[in-house]
Amino acid sequence: MRADKTSEQKSKLNIVVAIDGPAGAGKSTIARHLARHFGLLNLETGAMYRAFALKALRLDVPLDDSAALGRLAAETDIRLEPGDDENRVLLDGEDVTGQIRNQVVTDAASRVSIFPLIRAAMVKRQQEMGSKGGVVMEGRDIGTVVFPNAEVKIFLDAAPEVRGMRRYDQIGQIGQRGPADAKPLPPPEDVIRDLRARDERDRNRADSPLRPASDAFLLDSTNLTLDEAVKAAEAAVNAWLAKREMADSQR
Ligand code: C5P
Repeated sequence: MRADKTSEQKSKLNIVVAIDGPAGAGKSTIARHLARHFGLLNLETGAMYRAFALKALRLDVPLDDSAALGRLAAETDIRLEPGDDENRVLLDGEDVTGQIRNQVVTDAASRVSIFPLIRAAMVKRQQEMGSKGGVVMEGRDIGTVVFPNAEVKIFLDAAPEVRGMRRYDQIGQIGQRGPADAKPLPPPEDVIRDLRARDERDRNRADSPLRPASDAFLLDSTNLTLDEAVKAAEAAVNAWLAKREMADSQR
């Protein structure tokens, strides 16, 4: 194995990079790239809300019963294990990675994530996972609530139609992983409509609404290829590192 300068540099990076934004803005692609490039762990917090929603669906807990959902959250253990491509998601020890990306769970995750008791349980776990630094954490409230002191915060956005089409392509690619009786690929208009509904819920909920932190780097990828957006995000982290190096050298 090549022990080059990059790997030396990587092991020293114990920063938190927070990536927030609505669905389909390109967060996962960017987080994955930054994690590989800077040697950080990539933690996808949406997967935790998805795993919790899966449990509520399995147990037939009504998705609007905040008290029952809160009780369920208190007795649920959700863990993320960073992997090369995506996180392995463990729900009470069971690997549910392949069961949380279908439309039913996607919709349920958006509904349960409005409740403070659920959010508090998830945020606590996320803070534990990121406490040692060295992570890229992606979600909706990472820079505002989970790690308000994150070294680098990126808020990624794009026009709903663009995000909807990206999401549509993504759904096509993963082939609606989920139960064998999962619905067939919906038409693009439906994907865009669902995405808008999720956005509305995320932006308008009382607890931790989706919004950029005041010190976030705003990145609109509407007119960028994902590759260009990735480069811009990489530049934001490099700019922070250069600033830190300069501050260190002046000490
Ligand atoms: O990012 P992803 O689409 O997998 O997230 C699933 C759902 O979980 C989102 O629709 C959002 O409502 C919720 N979520 C959240 N806070 C986070 C991450 C996800 O409310 N930090």
